Amino acid sequence: MKILVAALFLTFCGTLVYADDSLDLASNADTTAQLDSATVISNSLYPMSLERKEKLVSYSQFKNVWRFVDFFISLGILFLILFTGWSAKLRTYVEKIPNKFFALWAFAVLFFALEYLLSLPFQIYRRFLVEGEFGFINQTFFEWLSEDLLGLGLYMLIAIIPIFSLYRLIKKTSFWWLQFTLGAIPFMIIMMVIGPIFISPLFNDFNELENKELKSEIHNLAEKSGIEGSDIFQVNTSKQSSKINAYVTGMFNSKRIVLTDNLINNFTTNEIKFVMGHEMGHYVQNHIWKGLFAAIFVLAIALWLTGLTIQKFIDKYKHRLQFDSLSDWASLPLLLIYMSIIMFMFNPVMNSLSRYHEHQSDIYGMEITDVTGEEAATAFDKLSVYNLANPDPHPVIEFWFYSHPSIKKRMEFVRNYRR
Ligand SMILES: [Zn+2]
Repeated sequence: MKILVAALFLTFCGTLVYADDSLDLASNADTTAQLDSATVISNSLYPMSLERKEKLVSYSQFKNVWRFVDFFISLGILFLILFTGWSAKLRTYVEKIPNKFFALWAFAVLFFALEYLLSLPFQIYRRFLVEGEFGFINQTFFEWLSEDLLGLGLYMLIAIIPIFSLYRLIKKTSFWWLQFTLGAIPFMIIMMVIGPIFISPLFNDFNELENKELKSEIHNLAEKSGIEGSDIFQVNTSKQSSKINAYVTGMFNSKRIVLTDNLINNFTTNEIKFVMGHEMGHYVQNHIWKGLFAAIFVLAIALWLTGLTIQKFIDKYKHRLQFDSLSDWASLPLLLIYMSIIMFMFNPVMNSLSRYHEHQSDIYGMEITDVTGEEAATAFDKLSVYNLANPDPHPVIEFWFYSHPSIKKRMEFVRNYRR
């Protein structure tokens, strides 16, 4: 999740635990410095004040810079923990615990706590102060911090499972990367099943849709899609942020379509119908499964590449690191460094697949509903205005970082689909 930005497969599992972000309506990670203000005005369907447009531009620029700053800060923190020998010191410290499992758990908890503390000033700046400055935060600092700590606690509780398995496999076999990946499949599926049921409700209230008229419209849509049994929830994300979103998450019986209260309160019925049609598109086209298996595939390659090269690095710097083998728990930060760099390089692959799914779902949303292209386009435009998302990012930024096609492209598509 967001807390331990540094990581690899753990973040991976984390993302899947909080699957909320994985198939949302609009990328949280959008925007670019190259904002053409003329484009914004000419394509705009929903009014935006000049002041808000200026905010949109500066928020976009900030986020673009921060994508890289954030990546390097998290790498820097991991390098610090590694090269100061702190990681080795923590490992020595927990060796007093006789039971191996609990010793490793203690090591992981101490390491995550240290990493959290070192990154906390940057996290407060980025996720509380800056978000607040742009008017998104609806929490006090202590509410924000206690939720963040709750997330950290859950992470410490769950992450021991992959970490323990990983170090056992590294000790046992040179095919640890393959065996770990295979083991990760059921683990991720379980996380995706329990996440929406047990974890998300710790942060927000999930309720049945209050608006009866809207509810019956959505039920009609669901029936038309052949998924009338699906659960449709409204969630009070306005508690944390004023951003607008909707998503589909979970697997098997825990699969659910979720509308945020911000969406319900600010979008018209037809705009919401299109959004729901889009979300149902993910559902019926099995995008969660496809995304999961793509993630597994990338995980296997990333672990394999790590396994090929990491021992050479350890040999070279073993005196500074104070350990000489990957099987030493103290190597955890180094493993995270390798994985986050490789995952960063794989961003375009995962995001290309995601953008393809999003486009398929946009088509589905238009097919299954009777909304006009103009109404669907207004829904996208509103997203851009409310979330200060740049509708027309630089192509390289879109290719590398965007999990959704740019809002401009999506608006053009729906407008041309049905005039
Ligand atoms: Zn989507």
